[in-house]
Amino acid sequence: MNIFKKFKSGLNKSSEKLSEGFKNLILKKNIDNLTLDSLEEFLIESDVGVETAEKLKQIFAKTKIDPQTDGLKQINKIVEKYIQDKMKPLEKKIIDNKNIKPKVLLIAGVNGVGKTTTIGKLGKILSKENNQIVFAAADTFRAAASDQLEVWSKKIGATIIKSDPGSDPASVAFKALEFSKKNNIDYLLIDTAGRLQNKKNLMDEFKKIVNVTKKIDSTAPHEIYLILDATTGQSAINQVEEFQKISPITGLIMTKLDGTAKGGILIAVSEKFNLPIIALGLGEKEDDMQLFDAQNFSKALMSG
Ligand code: GDP
Ligand code: GDP
Ligand code: MG
Repeated sequence: MNIFKKFKSGLNKSSEKLSEGFKNLILKKNIDNLTLDSLEEFLIESDVGVETAEKLKQIFAKTKIDPQTDGLKQINKIVEKYIQDKMKPLEKKIIDNKNIKPKVLLIAGVNGVGKTTTIGKLGKILSKENNQIVFAAADTFRAAASDQLEVWSKKIGATIIKSDPGSDPASVAFKALEFSKKNNIDYLLIDTAGRLQNKKNLMDEFKKIVNVTKKIDSTAPHEIYLILDATTGQSAINQVEEFQKISPITGLIMTKLDGTAKGGILIAVSEKFNLPIIALGLGEKEDDMQLFDAQNFSKALMSG
């Protein structure tokens, strides 16, 4: 499957909902103020955020949209272009500086967003380029977490460093980084426990992981990727705010876009924070992650 088709099938629910909604709103109607308001309201319901909905409404108002002929096409084009212009500057590659060994990627996010799965998928992408990879099972909070990561490590041929459930996550991170230095590893991906933003001890634990990696390499962690679950809607906004308070986030990965019709949330997050986007999770399987590409994303979303 080519990249566009991957995006398209992953974003199917969202794109269908958008095109269906637009069609119903503009079909044979004149584009008057009432229609414009309905369009804005519909966009807000699709989770793109109030700001984006307002800006799009203004562009609709300025454009001569003819619902009798190709009005739907015009609307789709406007939204597609808006998303692409907004999100193109947010494209960011996974760090690939050959001089840094290991490149330490710390994976953050609340419980169940897809951190462990994302580490597996990222590992798969990186291992294709002949990189040596280590996973650190620093989610020692849930007993099954390191088993889950171990399954992924076997699947993609990564080494896993783990510890007993309940042990200090910072110590797992420390051991894993020590091991990775010694063995000339290219990438160290550190899994973490679901940090409920309101649980102070989990947040402190996260800070401790960051600090302990710096003991070995003062430039680590080189990236902190925040994982967001598209199906949780507007609470993603709140999660970005809370995590930014502990540590600067260097990239976002949004998961489960295949499982929701409200993929617009990625646009709302982008409008609000302008954070780089690394990849999108478009399914549960190992190849169901796409490195972020604004053009394919916006085209796929608006081609329902
Ligand atoms: P964690 O608690 O953050 O580590 O989350 P997990 O990696 O354990 O994932 C939680 C659930 O979400 C699992 O059932 C995953 O298979 C599922 N999941 C993760 N990413 C995606 C995705 O992109 N699409 C879908 N449909 N499911 C996903
Ligand atoms: P502490 O738990 O209050 O001592 O917090 P630290 O931030 O100093 O360290 C966190 C964890 O990282 C510790 O529990 C250790 O397991 C591990 N760690 C830190 N420094 C070292 C070190 O120099 N050697 C080893 N082996 N582990 C360390
Ligand atoms: Mg996990």
